[in-house]
Amino acid sequence: MDFSQIETALGLASSALGTTGKAVATFEAVKKLLKSEKKPDNGEADALLNTLATELTTANVMNVQLSEALKVLGRQLKQQDEFEKEKSRYELFRTGQNDMVFKLRVDAANGQPDHFICPVCLNRDKLVSFITGEGDYKRCQTSSEHTFAFSKTYYNWPTSGSGW
Ligand SMILES: [Zn+2]
Repeated sequence: MDFSQIETALGLASSALGTTGKAVATFEAVKKLLKSEKKPDNGEADALLNTLATELTTANVMNVQLSEALKVLGRQLKQQDEFEKEKSRYELFRTGQNDMVFKLRVDAANGQPDHFICPVCLNRDKLVSFITGEGDYKRCQTSSEHTFAFSKTYYNWPTSGSGW
């Protein structure tokens, strides 16, 4: 989770509240001026109304920024949630050669065929990347540098004197 996004949203929220509070105070000042016994000073009233208009515009801009920040934040939380859900379908698996990979859990397969995914991509990039291949080594579909030893085949090389 990117906490700087939350901080940005909270910062915008408090600025928006502050700006709205200022606009409310100005509005009250205008009301008070209009209600006062003495004849309102037109210059003063005009200045206050201008201030109010500016403050309301600022508050409006901040509300738009705030709502954008909240939307981004909501999207990130949803992505994070989906990733955690997907990740929980896999369990750590030790290969025959003691490499660690992730394997689809039988009880979470949902009809998908048995498969392994790359632990590097999962942990570092929050990415589900399949591990494929036939021989002793299998490789991550995202990066060919992520290879995993699953087994070790011993070949019977012809020895000298084998009669040819
Ligand atoms: Zn990988």
